[in-house]
Amino acid sequence: MYEAGYRSLIKYSFFLLFIPVTCWVINYSVGYVSGPTLHEGDRVDTRTCRRCDGGKTDPNIAPDGSPRLNAELAMKGGPDGPCPFCRGKGSVEVVLPGPKRPTRFWGAVVDRKNAAAEIEYSCPANIALIAFQAAFLRPEMRDIQGALPNVRLLFVSDAGEAIESKTDAFGRFSTCLAPGNYRVKVFAAGFLTLEDHLTVAPLVEPVWLEKASSRSPDETGEERRSSMGLALVIALGRTEEDRPSLRTFAVP
Ligand SMILES: [Zn+2]
Repeated sequence: MYEAGYRSLIKYSFFLLFIPVTCWVINYSVGYVSGPTLHEGDRVDTRTCRRCDGGKTDPNIAPDGSPRLNAELAMKGGPDGPCPFCRGKGSVEVVLPGPKRPTRFWGAVVDRKNAAAEIEYSCPANIALIAFQAAFLRPEMRDIQGALPNVRLLFVSDAGEAIESKTDAFGRFSTCLAPGNYRVKVFAAGFLTLEDHLTVAPLVEPVWLEKASSRSPDETGEERRSSMGLALVIALGRTEEDRPSLRTFAVP
């Protein structure tokens, strides 16, 4: 009985630890693309908050005081609480991307034979996780079907600069690529090597440095690329009939 109590105490402690760790990881991962890191040619500007339209109060509360849209917003205070995206300031800093600002890629390498049948046409919903974050999730939330760990990837720019990456224990990788054309090589023992091209266009939409990260339903593809980057799914095969492929998607 004491042992059971002790076990639940351990579980509860892990749960308590999970909250700050998750917050840190979300900030960290969003910071990859939307943090204040500036690249040559980037400019910082201040814009009217697009979520509350500068109204400063939470836009997700109906006049009748009905519940907020999701749990994240529900933590931010009662009806007419401050807008979580600008913290009640009514304005938000944005980065206007210069021609060299990189796009973050959230990737996965899969064995096509073991991957989901739709892997060529749709992106795994859980692709944008770093390994540290994934390690806390249940396998059904964490795993990408057919994902291959420890696969080496090489992105070589037109200027000859080589950027290396490697999939983690769950088959994901993440890298930042400045605008330009890249030759991509992906090597895994027992599979045909993928050799393909990837063009990274300059970012065109501002990066909003909002204080909350819930996604707007009106977000366009280019806004999504500025805020979160792109997803990159690489499928490898072992035979000529099962040729390797590379696809980009909007981050789900
Ligand atoms: Zn606001």
